[in-house]
Amino acid sequence: LQRLLGEGSMGRVIQAEDVHLHRLVALKVLRRKIEGVDGHKQVEQFLREARAAAQIDHPNIVRIYEISEVDGWWYIAMEFIEGDTLTRVVKASGPMRPDRACAVIADAAAALAVAHELGIIHRDVKPNNLMITRSGRCKVTDFGLVRVDDPGDPFHFTDKSVGTPQYMPPEIIQHKEQTSAVDVYSLGGTLYFALTGRPPYVGKTVMKLLKKQLESPPPDPREVIKQCPPGLAKLVIRAMAKKPEDRPSAADFAAALRAEAIDYRHDDSTIASGLYNMPPGAPYPAAASHTTILAQPVRTWRSAVRLVFMLALAAVCGAAGLYVLDRYDILTLVRDGVRQESFEPLSARFPDAPTSYGIRSSIPRASTPLQQPPPYSWIHSIDAREFAFVSSHGGLHYYAIDDPRALLIRADQFVGYRTEADARADGKTLFTPRYENH
Ligand code: ADP
Ligand code: MG
Repeated sequence: LQRLLGEGSMGRVIQAEDVHLHRLVALKVLRRKIEGVDGHKQVEQFLREARAAAQIDHPNIVRIYEISEVDGWWYIAMEFIEGDTLTRVVKASGPMRPDRACAVIADAAAALAVAHELGIIHRDVKPNNLMITRSGRCKVTDFGLVRVDDPGDPFHFTDKSVGTPQYMPPEIIQHKEQTSAVDVYSLGGTLYFALTGRPPYVGKTVMKLLKKQLESPPPDPREVIKQCPPGLAKLVIRAMAKKPEDRPSAADFAAALRAEAIDYRHDDSTIASGLYNMPPGAPYPAAASHTTILAQPVRTWRSAVRLVFMLALAAVCGAAGLYVLDRYDILTLVRDGVRQESFEPLSARFPDAPTSYGIRSSIPRASTPLQQPPPYSWIHSIDAREFAFVSSHGGLHYYAIDDPRALLIRADQFVGYRTEADARADGKTLFTPRYENH
């Protein structure tokens, strides 16, 4: 063990060295030895953190190496991050430039998108849980309060509010259903923090703070940082929407942030030289706004003429197409082609494909006759003794009454025939399993 890195709600984080591999690790050690039922619960939460994080392999998520226990002291050994938390980075060097903030938060959003795909919600995204590496990338830590989306999971924390009040979304406060959108809200708040150096809401008491999370409109970073690009400010506001369904997904959030970062640099290019000479702490140069481009007068009469021309062209082409279809009776040909199954089904091309590929699944196999007619089958309700052949109202084919496929005909679709001639007179053909895989 080398030094204490920090202390969180669950325990201490210690920098240590793996004596065999000679690599640095961060050991998160539970606060105290654990015994009894309460202790058991704590170990469970500890294990949940490790299990959830260990499932994910992503460059922007802190890797878990091992979890174990020595003399009742439980620990998680994880990737040691040479760097610092976003909180300390911002405290030390002030609010981030918009393009930096975008890049950092986009890393975190990409990591969360991967976790969300696995059904893992972080639930405690905050500046303290984003580590900034020496190379300026961001890694998410502390999947400590996760709820793996597994209905069989006995450890539901939904009845308890967990997380950090400053970044806590309304649905957690109100004990409503929690989706991956909770992480997007908290990440939106974290982006606000990175841009402005303050948390999105402040309150004298926790109750006042929570009330603001529920009622105050999403904060606009431009009220603190005037030069914040409007697109970026809108992203913060959208991510912190009160209703989870109004927020973007983590993946969309990441993509939008990357686009903003590129945009900002692009807009910045003309003043880049000035930027390099900026004294530390000087205000950001204003980024050229997109609105200036949109606000240029549009030559309306020209675009109107173009629109009329395009519409006329589309109408002429459409009419010509319809004439050709009608003249050569193409639609009828196509319909007949479908009726006669002139299109070779995929199952014919791939007779050996496993049924799990889905291309043979629609053809019942004679070699595995249905033992049990399905509940909707006519067999349960219709006395068909007088018929030798059956079909369904909408169907193309008829079947011998003892054909196992006939069991699949729905009771409300049932049609019976005494003879094959009757069936043919009704426009049906005998089903011949041409493509069946015996
Ligand atoms: P919290 O409950 O506040 O999130 P943690 O227990 O997760 O606290 O972490 C406490 C501190 O330990 C962090 O603020 C950070 O400085 C440090 N830390 C956590 N994980 C690592 C790591 N993988 N590498 C380096 N430092 C870490
Ligand atoms: Mg943490």
